[in-house]
Amino acid sequence: MTKLAPVLSAHWDEKDSFTLEGYKRHGGYTASAKALAMDPDAIIQLVKDSGLRGRGGAGFPTGMKWGFIPQGDNKDHYLVVNADESEPGTCKDTPLLMANPHVLIEGCIIACHAIRAKHAFIYIRGEVTHVVRRVNQAIEDAYAAGILGNGIDVVLHIGAGAYICGEETALLDSLEGFRGQPRLRPPFPAIAGLYARPTVVNNVESIASVPAIVKNGAEWYQSMGTEKSKGTTLYSLSGHVVNPGQFEAPLGITLREILDLAGGVRPGHKLKFWTPGGSSTPLFTDAHLDVPLDYEGVAAAGSMLGTKALQIFDETTCVVRAVLRWTEFYKHESCGKCTPCREGTWWLVQILRDLEAGKGTEADLAKLLDLCDNIMGRSFCALGDGATSPITSSIKYFRDEYIAHLTQGGCPFDPVASTLFAGAGA
Ligand code: SF4
Repeated sequence: MTKLAPVLSAHWDEKDSFTLEGYKRHGGYTASAKALAMDPDAIIQLVKDSGLRGRGGAGFPTGMKWGFIPQGDNKDHYLVVNADESEPGTCKDTPLLMANPHVLIEGCIIACHAIRAKHAFIYIRGEVTHVVRRVNQAIEDAYAAGILGNGIDVVLHIGAGAYICGEETALLDSLEGFRGQPRLRPPFPAIAGLYARPTVVNNVESIASVPAIVKNGAEWYQSMGTEKSKGTTLYSLSGHVVNPGQFEAPLGITLREILDLAGGVRPGHKLKFWTPGGSSTPLFTDAHLDVPLDYEGVAAAGSMLGTKALQIFDETTCVVRAVLRWTEFYKHESCGKCTPCREGTWWLVQILRDLEAGKGTEADLAKLLDLCDNIMGRSFCALGDGATSPITSSIKYFRDEYIAHLTQGGCPFDPVASTLFAGAGA
């Protein structure tokens, strides 16, 4: 069985893991001291060699992204950390920041030095006040200790709470004080990002992974994971499992192995469906238990690794109801900029509500798929595409369950329904 590989989460069980003292006790801020003595280009090369890929969902190579920043252009450069975690099921950055905010600050110092930036901005959701307080305290402590403020500053920015602000260009608009809506690309942020200056936007976990790479070397990081997906990462297990939580393991572990580590699906029940990377990634079923959870393995099986948010649903869950709830979320969070998503997600909810209530006909299923087809690939940003994923994948694997709602005149999982639908599942 694949073992857990705690790197980021190595000391989360210590009472003072989030303090400066607790962080320094395990060699905290020695990597940034080492990095500041290095040539910036050498750090970029080190991160490239490590194989670290963005942990926010897209999986773009982190070192390559840093390498896109033009050098010697006499312009200000910025690092922006995307801490706007809000995909349903995604819960890795919040525990990371609660347990060890200093590893992010140290990562910011190293990344700023590498891309020749003097300012890093951490954009975080305003709703998570406990995380805001913790990161704010860590920044204050780092300034008081002279770790920050000597050429590199870190600013914490609190967002008003919108899922779309996790999209990097909408985040930049929001950070500049505008309504958070995606920008047209090109120009990409590396050329014209925050305040129209060259900007790197990275996820919390990506930046927090950098100090260990600087400390231990690219070869060490490369020794973990799979051929094209290197290192360890945080998998967030939630739902119908015995021990939900964060499991840090090398990329390529399977859900079967993680479930073993987490005590399995709750007693007396069996896995029905799950998300490999949050609610915007196509669903998997129990037929996908042995898919390697790395970027390539999940894609080859027809989904996306996304944020590695493994939401587990057992056989008591109505897939139509679950998909309806997610779709209501996407309708609510649609920023309204483009028609396919703004209008399309509204119609998706209307049809799904009818289907879940047992109204409508089989033709509505075809209409639902047609709507998804018109949203997918025609929306301005990935939110529209993501909204269709749970619908199309659930119809692919659980078409019978949709039909059962229609033939039984309501949800077969409703306790007041006469009989529990027996044929659910792929
Ligand atoms: Fe806004 Fe949705 Fe269009 Fe993205 S896809 S720009 S969230 S309306």
